[in-house]
Amino acid sequence: MTADLAIIGGGLSGGALALRAAGRGRRVVLVEREPGAHDKVCGEFLSREALLHLQALGLDPRALGGVPIDRVRLSAGRRTATAVLPFEGMGLSRRVLDAALLARAADAGATVLHGRRARALEPHHGGHRVRLDDGTLLDAAEAALATGKHDLRGWRRPPGRQDDLVGFKQHLRLDPGQRRALDGHVELTLFRGGYAGLQLVSDRQATLCLLVRRRRLATLGGTWDALLRAIGDEAPLLRCRLSGAEPLQPRPLTIAAIPYGLVANADDAVWRLGDQAAVIPSFTGDGMSIALHSAALCDVLLAAGARPTALGAAMRRDVAGQVRGATLLSRAAVHRPVQHAAVAIAALLPVLAARIAAATRIPDAALHRSGLPA
Ligand SMILES: Cc1cc2nc3c(=O)[nH]c(=O)nc-3n(C[C@H](O)[C@H](O)[C@H](O)COP(=O)(O)OP(=O)(O)OC[C@H]3O[C@@H](n4cnc5c(N)ncnc54)[C@H](O)[C@@H]3O)c2cc1C
Repeated sequence: MTADLAIIGGGLSGGALALRAAGRGRRVVLVEREPGAHDKVCGEFLSREALLHLQALGLDPRALGGVPIDRVRLSAGRRTATAVLPFEGMGLSRRVLDAALLARAADAGATVLHGRRARALEPHHGGHRVRLDDGTLLDAAEAALATGKHDLRGWRRPPGRQDDLVGFKQHLRLDPGQRRALDGHVELTLFRGGYAGLQLVSDRQATLCLLVRRRRLATLGGTWDALLRAIGDEAPLLRCRLSGAEPLQPRPLTIAAIPYGLVANADDAVWRLGDQAAVIPSFTGDGMSIALHSAALCDVLLAAGARPTALGAAMRRDVAGQVRGATLLSRAAVHRPVQHAAVAIAALLPVLAARIAAATRIPDAALHRSGLPA
């Protein structure tokens, strides 16, 4: 099997690049290990930049069932502060969003191989050869690694700066009263050793996504139920939101050793997209916009005949500062005294919370370089 561009991974970054490159007439083959639409460990908050990129790709998150979010409510213990976000974001399930993007990429002419895992990626006659789990060989002039937090053998990234957190994600049907109270908000709850985000992602569904330090989880016996009970004891607002809630999956999805703070080296022979290029702490709700930004930049650079090192350099220029700053905040945010201080300050100065939200975003100039209209 041959292609101009082989893409490994069909999440947001891989799907977006496939759609863009196929739209320019490139022969694109994308390999995704999952057989169909699937859930991901993700808080499912789409920032303004992510929404702009999706719009440029011809996707309408509202039409896919997404719900608008324009406020953040921060709580630690009994303290709570609410601030207006400096933009309107949206909650939307990744199961729906990623599947819609891949369908659009296929419509644009990309070959999307579902349920096939890339096992190896090697240099081959001046290009690349991808070896799939069923023995198929895919040869391509260019190759993009869009495997998210999963490293392909032989293509490891440097470690993150905060990698002792375990992530959980569960969809819930909330009690109608709690659903109404949550409407329009993303609620961030700080608790000992971690933080949680809760928001609506459709009229009927909420996403609870949380991160906890490995050590804290271990002291609680390592189980989700014990963790939820412990957080409920510390965080009355979250306990109230979850009262009467019905889990929509038998157990949450989990992910360990997330390399927050990672910004990949700029000297690779392949195009690294999304979490393969940079991993920003989840509280910023900006990982998806970085993934979409990397795909847009990659497509501009591919069209200009540039080498993958140019994408590495562009990503460092556009997001390294935000990733570094957000990781410092994330490391501080798991400590109890900082958590209480953060909510106290936010209560006095809602503007400050909004400033932090603004400071962790991709700047407009960088968005324009990726091809978004000024
Ligand atoms: C706890 C948590 C909460 C988050 N919350 C938010 C949020 O609210 N808002 C936000 O913007 N971002 C959030 N993020 C970040 C966001 O989820 C990621 O940054 C984004 O999904 C990265 O996109 P990607 O394309 O790089 O990878 P992914 O979307 O993870 O896609 C990678 C794809 O590659 C496939 N794959 C992996 N290995 C192979 C292989 N060998 N062969 C074939 N396919 C393969 C996988 O199946 C997957 O579909 C959160 C992350 C975490 C961990």
